Amino acid sequence: MSLYLKTDSFNPSIYEELVDVKNSYSKFRKNLDLLLTDFHEPETIDDRVVSRLGMNSVVTKQSVGSIEELYSFCQKHLIYYTCRSPVKVGQADKTWGYLAGTDVEKLQTIGKKYASRNFTSATPKGQCGIYRFGLTVENNGDIYVCPDARENFNPIGNVNNNSLLELIGIRNKQYPLNSDSGYCFVKRHRNPEFFTNI
Ligand code: SF4
Repeated sequence: MSLYLKTDSFNPSIYEELVDVKNSYSKFRKNLDLLLTDFHEPETIDDRVVSRLGMNSVVTKQSVGSIEELYSFCQKHLIYYTCRSPVKVGQADKTWGYLAGTDVEKLQTIGKKYASRNFTSATPKGQCGIYRFGLTVENNGDIYVCPDARENFNPIGNVNNNSLLELIGIRNKQYPLNSDSGYCFVKRHRNPEFFTNI
């Protein structure tokens, strides 16, 4: 099992502003500490660090000053770290001025400094690792094919009702896996015009 956290800041006020939940930061840090002591067991194989714990940030006007600290923390603890520049879709589209405004180019440059692959979760073969090797668990236990495949997609099951084996079987039946480099499940369903060559 691998865990991939979304964290944009270790500054409590910025964190709580971005997740829009008061007094949530201390709980988040407590859980992160728990992961470090009870879950995280990075291995170094040849020159590669293999980690089952990853952290992703989106660099926005609010989080831009927090990225270096998050990156250094992950380096220190051998946590796989990625940083995306913002994308104008979904909620980000509605709050674009607040998140990015006229700083888009600057934020994109910072994002690229930490994420050189075509997906934040890219495998060495260029696949989206979150889609290809994972499932997404919602707070209520509902399972989706990937984190962005929720609007206009139905859950494929729920952790309270289905075993992992069942969920993988349902996913594979409803949405046969595609292992091509550059394949994005959401774009494939919402923007098939992107996939004329894949
Ligand atoms: S939206 Fe695309 S890139 Fe993002 S997790 Fe899903 S498949 Fe991967």
